[in-house]
Formats: sequence, structure tokens, C-alpha cells
Amino acid sequence: MDYKADALVLRAADYGEYDRMVTLLTAERGKIGAGMKGVRKAGAKLNFASQPFCFSEYVFAEKGGRYTVTQASLHEGFFGLRLDLKKYYAGAAVLQTCDAFSAEGMPCGELLVGAVETLSAIETENGHTMSAVLRFLLRTLRLAGYPVSAERCTVCGREMEGRRRFDMASGSFRCAGCGDGVPVSAVTYDAIRAVLKGDAEDGEDGVRRALRLMKAYVLYHTETELSALEEFLSL
Ligand SMILES: [Zn+2]
Repeated sequence: MDYKADALVLRAADYGEYDRMVTLLTAERGKIGAGMKGVRKAGAKLNFASQPFCFSEYVFAEKGGRYTVTQASLHEGFFGLRLDLKKYYAGAAVLQTCDAFSAEGMPCGELLVGAVETLSAIETENGHTMSAVLRFLLRTLRLAGYPVSAERCTVCGREMEGRRRFDMASGSFRCAGCGDGVPVSAVTYDAIRAVLKGDAEDGEDGVRRALRLMKAYVLYHTETELSALEEFLSL
């Protein structure tokens, strides 16, 4: 039976002589794998639709739970991400995050919309790249049931000053003297708080530190190493 859906290519792997297997994020059916036959032949017309970052409408032939792409029409290729190393790794971090927080059969509409918006912001630099990635991570963590909050100390209830701690289990902050947690600077907290409140402020050092903290938080909860985010932060 045919199945038609908008989907974003998260990963692609070559197989056979001319074929490719793509891992796609869809709104309705979550993450699905699909074969694309002959797309590595010279001049193959669906080659574009087998590349990571490609956001297209796909038509699949479905047989026994296996999908094969039969048609695709491009919405956004995000080709600009391949021309700039920093944008490329920022985009790859978005795709890896989608991969970590999606599963087959799990509706992923909000995740898909967030990913496409973020890739678009990174490509056009409509908003700073680092803040866009941080915003996407915080939004995805909230959707996945690991919300991060940056409010008063969750132990003593006071406004915090100076250094503080981040509790990996609860995703919240506390004063440095109010219990365990990873030591973090005030600028890290401020960057997360600004993004959560929708402020556009971009203190680069704070956002960079906040991304490192969220990378550790994702690892803590999902055992997923966001290697593309590491590459992005090392540039
Ligand atoms: Zn406290």
C-alpha cells in the first residue's frame, strides 16, 4: 500500500551497488527507515531526497512493514548547511537530537516542525546559530519529558547569586551551597533562562556553556552522545 508523508532525512547509509537506506522523521509515524533503489546512479532523479537535511514529501510503497521510496518532491533541501562547517555541524546536531528523541510509531509532529524551523534559522542565520540550537534542545527535552527549568533555587527557594549547581535528575538549578549537582556559572544559567523566556539575548560564552551542559544532560537521560554538537562547539 502507498503511504504519503512529509519527512526529514536524519541519516543515510549506502548499500548494494546503487542503493541507499534513509532514516526519516515523520509527524504521524515517527522515525522510519526506507530503501531508495538506484539513487546513487549518475543522474538518478531522487538522489536529492536521499541526502541528510532533505525535507520532502515522500511517497512510499509499504510491504510487510518495509518502506521503499517511490516518489519525492522537495520542500527544503537546506543545501546552504553544506557550504559552511559551523552551520553543517549545528544542523547535524539537530538531526542527531531528532534521532535520539524519536522512535518508530511515536507521533513526532512537534519535533519535526521544531527541527525544520531550526534548520531554516541556522541556514538563513535568522537568529544566532548557537541560540537556535539551544532553543531547539530545550524544546525537545521538554517534549520528551525532561524539561529544564531555570527559576529560583529548588532547595531553599531563594533567587540565586554567583555560582550554582545543576541537578541532572530533575533538570533544575540550586545554589552552590544547597546540595549536589554539577557546578555551573551564572552565565550558563542566564543563557538557559533567557532562551526559556523567549528573550533574544545572545551572550556567546553563556550559550556555549549552556550547550555543553545540555549535551551532558542528554547523555545522562538517553545515553546518547551528541557528537555533532561536540564538533560544533569545538569550532
Ligand atoms: Zn538555595
